[in-house]
Formats: sequence, C-alpha cells, structure tokens
Amino acid sequence: MSDCIFCKIVAGTIPCRKIYEDDYVLAFHDINPAAPVHFLVVPKMHVASLADCVAEHHAGLLARVMLAVAKVARDIGLENGYRTIINTGEDGGQTVFHLHAHGLGGGKPRPLGDALPAAN
Ligand code: AMP
Ligand code: ZN
Repeated sequence: MSDCIFCKIVAGTIPCRKIYEDDYVLAFHDINPAAPVHFLVVPKMHVASLADCVAEHHAGLLARVMLAVAKVARDIGLENGYRTIINTGEDGGQTVFHLHAHGLGGGKPRPLGDALPAAN
C-alpha cells in the first residue's frame, strides 16, 4: 500500500533500525520504545490488521510473524522472557494499520515491569 508507513519501511524508502529479515517478515526496533527492548515484526505483505486475517494463507503469515518474534527475542538475549502484543483496530489501540507484533523485554538485568504500548 503506497501510503502505509510499514510498507515504506519494507520497501526501504523510510529507514528503520533493522534486526532481522527474511522473505516474509521484517523485524526492526520501535521508534518510540515502551520498554528497554521494543521491536516490531511486520509481514512484508500488506495486511491491515489481525482482524483482516481471514484466509487460509494468513495462517502461514501469522506463524512466520510469531516465529520471527521468538527468533529475534532469542537472538537479542531475552532469556528471561518477553511480552508479545498485537494491537488490533481502533479499540485495540492500533495506530499503524499494517499488521505487526510488538516484542517487549526488559533486557539484562532489568525486568519488563508493566510496560504496555498503546494499551491506554
Ligand atoms: P500500534 O499502536 O500497535 O499500531 O503500534 C505502532 C508502533 O509503531 C508504535 O509503537 C510506534 O512507536 C511504532 N512506529 C511508528 N512509526 C515507526 C517507525 N517509522 N519506525 C519504527 N517504529 C515506528
Ligand atoms: Zn503496509
């Protein structure tokens, strides 16, 4: 989608602090971190939100997003755990309408505490 900020990040026309990329997903640091470690995983294909995942092929897409969250968290070293959040729609606090999973962790040695992005 031409006016979608995450599509522009995927296309490379808007910069990001990239962490991981494969054929299907891109992971990068959130520009406004709500925790010591805060990254986003987006599918390269534009899907507006979790609510728009209705077809069989979305199953694979969602699995790849979640597997990438787990891989990035492992690679960053969040051995003590992390929080994974998908805000969906206006009432869910979603502000960027390109499906994305937040990965939030405390890093070492800080615990995560109560950090929740856009959940207010
Ligand atoms: P949500 O409220 O779930 O839609 O989350 C959108 C997230 O995208 C917020 O945490 C923003 O800080 C983050 N964000 C917005 N623009 C950018 C950007 N250009 N690069 C990285 N993260 C961004
Ligand atoms: Zn998009």
